[in-house]
Amino acid sequence: MAKIEQRLFGATGMMFSTIGLGTWQLEAEQCCAAVALQRGLDAGANHIDTAELYGDGEVERIVGQAIRGRRQGLYLVSKVVPAHAAYAQTIAACERSLKNLRTDCLDVYLLHWREGKTPLEETFRAFDALLRDGKIRAFGVSNFSVKDLEEALRIAGPGKIACNQVLYHLQQRAVEFDVLPWCQKRDIAVVAYSPLGQGKLAANRRLAKLASARNVSPSQLALAFLVRQQGVFAIPKAAYAEHAADNVRSGALKLTDQDIALIDQAFPAKPKRRLPMI
Ligand code: NAP
Repeated sequence: MAKIEQRLFGATGMMFSTIGLGTWQLEAEQCCAAVALQRGLDAGANHIDTAELYGDGEVERIVGQAIRGRRQGLYLVSKVVPAHAAYAQTIAACERSLKNLRTDCLDVYLLHWREGKTPLEETFRAFDALLRDGKIRAFGVSNFSVKDLEEALRIAGPGKIACNQVLYHLQQRAVEFDVLPWCQKRDIAVVAYSPLGQGKLAANRRLAKLASARNVSPSQLALAFLVRQQGVFAIPKAAYAEHAADNVRSGALKLTDQDIALIDQAFPAKPKRRLPMI
């Protein structure tokens, strides 16, 4: 079996597989969700992305079940919603997530998006307390613009923000114009969410043609294109075990300059950004 690439996750010292496992809306697929997550881990993924928001804690509980007996060597990422971003609520939200996930420490804890009501200083103060208490190993942000990131960096200081999780796929490449180079320069991991365009890319005919010429799946091509770049990770969601394994295998796929040029031509980068999806 080809080796799935791992790389440093920002400045955290943790080695994440380039492909992780997304979990949004998995609560609707209780029948197969745990099996799909396990298959993704068996195929070589070593991190799972979840959030208190997903199914109102239900998805974290599904993840907790799925990873029973295999917590070691696995990185867990969860997120606090802005409505809980005040100091005491962030601590309480993290405690709930730990309970749901049946673990005593989250590897990375993210602010899901910015809403502006709670000052970022206050949320980061809570993250610092969680770090001190050993409840989290690192923290990061999600859906942050460069302006938000500049503020976050001023508050947290260099080397503290592990990642920015953002909408990024072949038909939505706006981050390449600003957020991605900004993060790469500062050793902040960029985690591509909805990396398959919520499944649309898996059925895209232009991509299918390029993929069949390479003897891989369209999803694999879409993911490999993103994670070929320094500091980039992708977290596709799959409720079906075959999809999960297929996606993770793209972490071993090396694209040639010609592959990259053909994909770039078919899905050109445009600076226009869509509103963040939660
Ligand atoms: P996505 O991963 O782009 O697409 C998921 C869809 O693609 C599902 O319908 C899935 O089908 C299908 N799929 C997956 N692998 C496939 C394959 N190999 N072949 C064919 N179809 C395949 O969409 P997403 O769930 O929006 O994003 C991924 C993760 O990012 C989320 O689950 C969540 O963890 C995270 N996220 C974060 C934010 C944020 O604000 N931070 C926002 C959105 C998402 P099946 O499920 O039927 O297998």
